[in-house]
Amino acid sequence: MGIKNPIVTEIAHKTYLINEYGLNVMYLVVGTERALLIDTGSGYCDLKAIVERLTNKPYDVVLTHGHVDHAGGCDIFEEIYIHPDDVDMAKNISYESRLGYGNSLRNAMGEPVWDYSEENVRRWENFPACRDLSEGMVFDLGGRKLTVYHTPGHTKGSCCLIDDKSRILFSGDAANINLLMNLGGARVSTALEGLLKIKAHDAEFDRNYNGHVGYASYVDCVTMPDSVLDDCIAAMRGIIDGNLVPITYENFLRPDKPTTAVEYGAVRISYDPDFI
Ligand SMILES: [Zn+2]
Ligand SMILES: [Zn+2]
Repeated sequence: MGIKNPIVTEIAHKTYLINEYGLNVMYLVVGTERALLIDTGSGYCDLKAIVERLTNKPYDVVLTHGHVDHAGGCDIFEEIYIHPDDVDMAKNISYESRLGYGNSLRNAMGEPVWDYSEENVRRWENFPACRDLSEGMVFDLGGRKLTVYHTPGHTKGSCCLIDDKSRILFSGDAANINLLMNLGGARVSTALEGLLKIKAHDAEFDRNYNGHVGYASYVDCVTMPDSVLDDCIAAMRGIIDGNLVPITYENFLRPDKPTTAVEYGAVRISYDPDFI
């Protein structure tokens, strides 16, 4: 029997991971006064109803970046915070790209991605008002504060947030074991600067939760390995210095040409060799 609803897990007190069919995850962080929704997923479920079942507090919506699997469900909200560099990317998400993401993931993994089907993909009727997400911005939820860090790399407008209460780094797609920097993001050298900025705050978080947990058809709620941030930084340095030997592989997200990557520790970083 398939799973028809996203799975919700409380990963810290009043901190919820919402796993959308194994394709991507969203997070809801609840304070004493307000709440914050981090990412809106691919838009294959009624995220608004899920959020409003978990909290009756007023809430803001933040997008870590403008990709289809993070901004794809933003249409049902009135207002979103997003870095200005990713606004056009989010606005240009098409119905076909949302359909394509679900279908490619479903087909890529062999097993059906839970009970995702094309019928889950609604057509957008609205695009929300955009407010700027920027470096150093603080969301004060009452009893807990989340600070925004701009970490371009995966996309130009990618941002991470650190929650002072749960001591969780919410990293979107900016620092994970399969870091994709070949999708029109920033240069590797720029991405390295962003991750070093996060590293400077590593005394403020214990866990790194990214935008994909138990990827594609796995039901899971685990964090990234503890070494991921350091491994990403070392891998980026290896790319820049030329000390790591690149490999190439076929990536179904970019079937037009082989993808170049380096591997270091727990991570693989895919990048454009002409954009270091
Ligand atoms: Zn992404
Ligand atoms: Zn993603």
